[in-house]
Amino acid sequence: MLTATTPAPLAPYKSLSNEELATRINVVRAELGPKLLILGHHYQQDEVIALADLTGDSYQLSKLAADSEDCRYIAFCGVHFMAETADILANRPEKLADRNGERVTVFLPDMAAGCSMADMAGIHQIEDAWDQLGEVLDTRDITPVTYINSAASLKAFVGKHGGIVCTSSNAQAAIEWAFARTNKVMFFPDQHLGRNTAAGMGIPLAQMPVWDPFAPELGGNTAAALQQSRVLLWKGHCSVHQMFKPEHVAMFRAKHPGIRVLVHPECPREVFELADESGSTGKIIRTVESAPPGTKWVIGTELHLVNRLKQQHPEQEIYFLSPVVCMCATMYRIDLAHLCWTLENLSAGTSVNPIEVDEETARWSLVALERMLEVS
Ligand code: SF4
Repeated sequence: MLTATTPAPLAPYKSLSNEELATRINVVRAELGPKLLILGHHYQQDEVIALADLTGDSYQLSKLAADSEDCRYIAFCGVHFMAETADILANRPEKLADRNGERVTVFLPDMAAGCSMADMAGIHQIEDAWDQLGEVLDTRDITPVTYINSAASLKAFVGKHGGIVCTSSNAQAAIEWAFARTNKVMFFPDQHLGRNTAAGMGIPLAQMPVWDPFAPELGGNTAAALQQSRVLLWKGHCSVHQMFKPEHVAMFRAKHPGIRVLVHPECPREVFELADESGSTGKIIRTVESAPPGTKWVIGTELHLVNRLKQQHPEQEIYFLSPVVCMCATMYRIDLAHLCWTLENLSAGTSVNPIEVDEETARWSLVALERMLEVS
């Protein structure tokens, strides 16, 4: 059905109202029926979420889409690495065999929707770090673990080197899996998730050096520090969760006695340590949903998710843990104009912004993703 013809231009879509765009998107949804899935990440803006067939975190969405038998097209309203993961899972060999070789095409409505954290761990930087580590350590004694918020090239590196992918909800299980194999773990790309998880497992902070890919040598560490390490942390972070500060926690506690502080483990250690509860986006949602009416919360995660929780739970008092706007600006690029443009081009048989991971990268990424499934 899809051809390489010139796509209709995006510009005219930008002047349409959200109501008109939603109507036109629904026309394509009706036309394609179950062949099309629109996936909306929890951090997406409300207008997009309202049109999504499925909502969730990146892994839940990819898994749900990959397991759908009828789906042939996925419009992933998230960021680039999420669309890559969906492509890898939806087109894994057994799924292709079930569909007689027919591929699922994944679209990212705006190619500029990247992830600053994933971009902090480029594959050439990783390969260089591994080579440098090999000069002072036996890298066969290091298991690489990567957060799912990473490029497919990093997942493939991890798969090839005996490692595993994790999400924010199974990071501890993945690190335990890694320690069952080697004495050291290298955690990519989010230093905060790695540090918060490993500290919770009793690993001293002094045994978690940070590898800075821009340092002149050994990631800014001494050979001795690397040799004594248990968990090597890559110097990456989420630009959204990095914004939460201990003074924000102090401010809310002073203003609202009894308030519960609930944060995502991508938050810096000094904020994480002050929280009453922590967890993945899924856990944050479940925690709020199950709390008794009248509970006061201040939540440290992406703004759109917190605002949605506020609307859905008027029986509770919910605040956002920062005086400044912390939203995922790249995910926000996916608006109804881009979604409508992608879908109407698809309906006309033209592919815009398809995400297709090359075969070798997909194969090794899948190895690392499947190891995660075994421990989850
Ligand atoms: S919230 Fe952070 S980790 Fe998640 S997609 Fe945005 S920049 Fe990446």
